[in-house]
Amino acid sequence: MSLTVCKFGGSSLADGNNIQRVADIVENDPGRRFVVVSAPGKRYSGDIKVTDLLYECYKECGQKGNCSESFAKIRKRFRSIVEELGMETFDIGSILDETEKQIEKNKSADFAASRGEYLNARIVAAKLGRTFVDAKDIIFFDANGQFDEKKSYPLIAEALADCQGAVIPGFYGTDINGKIKTFSRGGSDISGSIIARAVNADLYENWTDVSGFLACDPRIVNNPQKIETISFKELRELSYMGANVLHADSIFPVRKGDIPIKIKNTFRPEDAGTLILPSKKYVKSGNIVTGIAGKKDFTVIYLEKSMMNSEIGFARKVLSVLEKDGICFEHMPSGIDTLSLVIESRYFSESTLEELIEQLKEAVKPDYIHALENIALVATVGHGMASNIGTSARLFNALSEANINIRMIDQGSSEINIIVGIDNADYERCVRAIYREFFE
Ligand code: ASP
Repeated sequence: MSLTVCKFGGSSLADGNNIQRVADIVENDPGRRFVVVSAPGKRYSGDIKVTDLLYECYKECGQKGNCSESFAKIRKRFRSIVEELGMETFDIGSILDETEKQIEKNKSADFAASRGEYLNARIVAAKLGRTFVDAKDIIFFDANGQFDEKKSYPLIAEALADCQGAVIPGFYGTDINGKIKTFSRGGSDISGSIIARAVNADLYENWTDVSGFLACDPRIVNNPQKIETISFKELRELSYMGANVLHADSIFPVRKGDIPIKIKNTFRPEDAGTLILPSKKYVKSGNIVTGIAGKKDFTVIYLEKSMMNSEIGFARKVLSVLEKDGICFEHMPSGIDTLSLVIESRYFSESTLEELIEQLKEAVKPDYIHALENIALVATVGHGMASNIGTSARLFNALSEANINIRMIDQGSSEINIIVGIDNADYERCVRAIYREFFE
C-alpha cells in the first residue's frame, strides 16, 4: 500500500462541516496515514482567519496583560466546530482554558499564532480516532531560525514509525531555546512537506480549495487551462513569480526526497488536480509552455561603462553595494558594456533609490546610470521551451503584435523560462498575449 501524507489548508477546515469532508477524504484511502492541518481559515469572504485572531490575542495581551476579549472569538469558533462535528464528549472547554492561560503566560506572537493549528489538530485527531503528535516535539529550528533537518527528520521518523495514523499541527516547531516558533504565513505547507520527506512517503497530497494550478492568473485570462502535471523546476519558477497555491518554500523537502506533490480540491475531490513531479519522474506534457506568471513593481538600474567586460571585479563591486544595503536582486542581465539590476521596488523610497545610485557611481564610476521604475516581470515557463526551436520568436512576436514594449529580457540557463520586463501598465495585456499565442 502506498504511503500518503496529506495536508489540509485553512479553508478546507474552516468549520465543522468542512472538517467532516476532510475526515471522509482521509478515511476513504487507508494510505492516508499522516494528516497535517492548518488553523481554520475563512468561512466566507470578509471572515477572519483564526491565525489572524490569534495575533490579535497576542496584541491584546501586550496592551492589557490578558487576552480575554479576543480569545472569546477563538472560543466561539472552536466550540461551534466541535458542536457541528457532534463531538459532545470531547472536552474542548478545558483545552481552550489552558490555551488562553498559556498565550497570556508565553507573551510570544509565534506561540499565540501556533495555537490555531494546535487546537485544530487536537479536534481532527479526536474526530478521526488517530494519535495527536505535537509538532513541537518533532520539528526543530536551528540557531539561524532555519528548519533543522538533521535534528528533525530522525525524530519525526521515530515518532511516526509505529503509528498507524496520526494528526500533526502544521506551521510551527521548536527553536533552540525550546520556544515555539512558526514558519512564515501559509507555512503548514512546509510542515506537510517535511513530514512527507521524513517518513519517505510515496505522495504528498496538499488539499486546498482549488483544483490545482492554472496556466495563468484567472483574474487576467478567463477560464485558463488547468495544469495536469508540472515539474518541481517549473513550479519553482511559477510560484516564485506569484502563482501561489503552495508556499514557495514547501517544495524543497519533498523535492530532495523525489516525492511527488498532488494538489487537490477538498470541495471537489473527484477533480484530478495537479501532479507536481521530480525531474526523475517527469514526463513532458507535450505543451511547449506549462504556465505564465508575473509580478508588478520592479525597478531596473541600468549601468553603462566602456570596456566593462575587461574590468575585473566590476560586478562584484556592484553587488557589494547591494549586499551592504541588504538589498536582494532578482536578475542581472548584462552586455559587453552594460549591466542591469532588477530589484523589487519595495526596497526603495525615492531617497533610498537616489542614495543607491550615488553609491554605485562611487563604487564603479559608470559612464551612464539610470533607473527605470514601474516595471513588471512576466515569466513564461515550460520544459518544452528548451527543445522547441522558435519559441522565443513566437513569444516576442506575440508581444510585438500586442504593441508591448519589452524593456528587458532574461532567459534562465536551464532554458525552461523566458522572463520579460515591461511597463506595469502593460502587465495584463502581456500575460493575455502570451497565453493566446501558446494556449489558444
Ligand atoms: N495558519 C497559518 C496562516 O494563516 C499557517 C497556514 O495556514 O499554513 O498563515
